[in-house]
Amino acid sequence: MTIKLYDTYARETREFIPISSEEPVGLYCCGPTVYNYAHIGNLRTYIFEDVLRRVLEYNHYDVRHVVNITDVGHLVSDADDGEDKMAAGAARTGKTAWEIAEIYTDAFLQDLAHLNIKTPDILCKATDHIAEQITAIQQIEAKGLCYITSDGVYFDTSKDPDYGYLARLDTAGLQEGARVDKGEKRNHTDFALWKFSPANEQRQMEWESPWGKGFPGWHIECSAMASKYLGPLFDIHCGGKDHIPIHHSNEIAQAQACYGTRLSNYWMHGYFLQSDKSKMSKSSGEFLRMETLIDKGYDPLTYRFFCLLAHYRSDIAFSWENLDSAAIALGRLRDAFYSWESGGTVADDYAQRFGDCINDDLNTSQAIALVWELVKNNSVSGADKKATLVKFDEVLGLQLSVWEPAAEEAIPDEIISLAQTRQNARKSKDWDAADAARNAIAAAGYEVVDTADGFEVKKS
Ligand code: AMP
Ligand code: ZN
Repeated sequence: MTIKLYDTYARETREFIPISSEEPVGLYCCGPTVYNYAHIGNLRTYIFEDVLRRVLEYNHYDVRHVVNITDVGHLVSDADDGEDKMAAGAARTGKTAWEIAEIYTDAFLQDLAHLNIKTPDILCKATDHIAEQITAIQQIEAKGLCYITSDGVYFDTSKDPDYGYLARLDTAGLQEGARVDKGEKRNHTDFALWKFSPANEQRQMEWESPWGKGFPGWHIECSAMASKYLGPLFDIHCGGKDHIPIHHSNEIAQAQACYGTRLSNYWMHGYFLQSDKSKMSKSSGEFLRMETLIDKGYDPLTYRFFCLLAHYRSDIAFSWENLDSAAIALGRLRDAFYSWESGGTVADDYAQRFGDCINDDLNTSQAIALVWELVKNNSVSGADKKATLVKFDEVLGLQLSVWEPAAEEAIPDEIISLAQTRQNARKSKDWDAADAARNAIAAAGYEVVDTADGFEVKKS
């Protein structure tokens, strides 16, 4: 089967042809900046990337999936100034930058597990690859493509005739139209490769370099680590669509300088989850994370299902109503799946059509519509439906085979005995004791209801 993927670089849907027929498909995805928890918008992008990986695997490709952990160098402003996000996160929490990197990396891995996102084969931290980043900057310097200012080493984008092609940036127009002061930078689009530590100040994260003590710029970590683990030109590079004009344009400029490649053969971008008509972000608007959803009683896979309902190249507006509808729909699918016998065979025509949907630039919304068509089809046996959905779930990742209806929870003995105490107290008109028992029952999350022949205890 042919896989077609939308390549932002070419601005068209292209047939996927791997670079090597022997090596695994190289897939690099920009990971989290670990200065805070991921919000569910970030998680939408990781779900899209997981679906991509699963679609490649469904088509029998081995995949080498690399994700970076940005634990240094990402500044609050994309214009290479402002505070370092890690330093800001450390100040916010009263911990060190190293400590928060560990805390939020663990939280990120926990989020992936909740959403049944496959663990990347390689998870690489920027701070573990300082030497590789310095080598890449030296290669850029050797080509005369950077310059030094009082606060760092900058890439001179005017020396790269293709700079910004990915985003179809109008660099000349940007240069003239920009109102922001570019400081010592020669061009608005120039970006930091290395930033110097301020004089007389020890940063929590800093390293020696040929240019002076400091830390790497954000973009260099991705091109340096991606090429280390996947080679100078690999198959697919992903991220959210906000990365097109700056981060990914800069990665390509660096790779062009270091290796003479555009780093990746296909560039794919996930669209946004929006809240209140604006992009959900860590710094503004509603900050919803996986734990928020779990605390509100949602099964994490409901959020995965919710994301699958839309194509990855369309923005989704988040609403609790839509999440509730997804929860109901997933519940119906699980109930139906659970009710069928095992031992059936995959319905070939449905498998064929499912492949057509997902291989058409990961059309998960059509794939889910096909799932419902199969569920409702009376001429396919329950067992065959089950076998077919098990196959589809390799891509959907909804863990349908694992799910079981929750068993009716038994009321604990101590709650029953408290209810008995209350009833005895009422009989002897000891209202204070009766109230105390009722309150203790309520505090444990239960309620007691009087009935004709005694009482009944329920979860409140
Ligand atoms: P960050 O941790 O901010 O570097 O972002 C991690 C990933 O989430 C990147 O690929 C971003 O492009 C992506 N992203 C950021 N905001 C959103 C959003 N509201 N919806 C979907 N993806 C997002
Ligand atoms: Zn990146």
